[in-house]
Amino acid sequence: MKKTNQIKIKSNEYIANLPKDFNRPTDAVGQRLLREYGALFVARGGAIPPRTVIFKSEREVTTYQKSLSKSKENIGGFAVELQTAAMKNLKNAIAEAEKNSLTITPRGADAAKRNYADTVALWASRVNPALAYWIEKGILEESVATEIRLLSPFDQVSEIFKLESQGMFCSKDLSKSIVYSVAPPGTSQHLSMLALDVNEHDDSRVRDVLSEHGWFQTVVSDLPHFTFLGVSENQLSKLGLKKVSDDGRVFRLPSL
Ligand SMILES: [Zn+2]
Repeated sequence: MKKTNQIKIKSNEYIANLPKDFNRPTDAVGQRLLREYGALFVARGGAIPPRTVIFKSEREVTTYQKSLSKSKENIGGFAVELQTAAMKNLKNAIAEAEKNSLTITPRGADAAKRNYADTVALWASRVNPALAYWIEKGILEESVATEIRLLSPFDQVSEIFKLESQGMFCSKDLSKSIVYSVAPPGTSQHLSMLALDVNEHDDSRVRDVLSEHGWFQTVVSDLPHFTFLGVSENQLSKLGLKKVSDDGRVFRLPSL
């Protein structure tokens, strides 16, 4: 990664609540990802968040995942694997939902744990059609797209952000940044086993039950996505997290 564009974030409540050995990014891409996905890193209640914003290889992800206390359950027909604390609270939320005739089920086989290769494949599934679209529109030169395709998934991230800064958005519907559609390789919260994509996300009663058990929405406009933060709602501001409202939903993001 280029060493240009270094920006120092000054200390604040959020920064103070990061793990002591957290590897704070100094580059523009890392800092943007910290702002967009960073609520996870101040998770409490027995959660062990990653010490880095970006895992750079499958080996790094595997080493981290192996160090965790994990729990696997069959929920809604899918094997769901999460950190033990996250699973315990999810099961409590499911039990409470049931009392009110509600269900909380995973969106699919990849709704919880993912590996590095999964995040690379998801990234490519957005980047490739987006590049093709902007070439077709006559806005992006074929040669520039070719250069981007030849980069490592990790190095593509800053180049995609550059295109987006020129209006060539790469989300699924091409109307907004790719970060609201899919996480860059090695940055998905699902790598931490503290995230779950939920079918019933549209039901505010389900969102309330989940938040009562430490599960909150932390990625703007990623509607099915919930993150285990392991605290009650009134503790979130003390962790340096702010409320962001978008399209009738409340998301919790680092106050940076
Ligand atoms: Zn998700």
